[in-house]
Amino acid sequence: MGREVKRITCIVCPNGCEIEVVLESGRVVEVRGAGCRRGVEYAIEEATSPKRIVMSVVKCIDGDLPTVSVKTSRPVPKERIWDVMKVLSEVEARAPVEVGQVLVRNVLGLGIDVVATRRCRKVS
Ligand code: SF4
Repeated sequence: MGREVKRITCIVCPNGCEIEVVLESGRVVEVRGAGCRRGVEYAIEEATSPKRIVMSVVKCIDGDLPTVSVKTSRPVPKERIWDVMKVLSEVEARAPVEVGQVLVRNVLGLGIDVVATRRCRKVS
């Protein structure tokens, strides 16, 4: 592994600094273009271990809606996002579901929960 430059647009504040992270053999050796320390930290994480909040829907049984929207409680490592989506495709929540209710605890052992972001009422 040699020298590599990753270009990252910082999304931490509206300035949108274009940051370059220089890696040598996978190690960060230089960060250029960041307007502040928070941007440096964001760019290093994006370059070395990118993560995303996963948003999706799961089935809602006996509910007034066929599905309920969900998101992960914390960002998921990018390389595990499709594994989390696969788990969610098989989850069936039972109405009623409240906003903030944990529908999957500790998904894939990542220490991250999946919570409802929308209410699903029970149909009688
Ligand atoms: S590097 Fe700092 S100033 Fe630039 S966009 Fe990121 S948070 Fe904003």
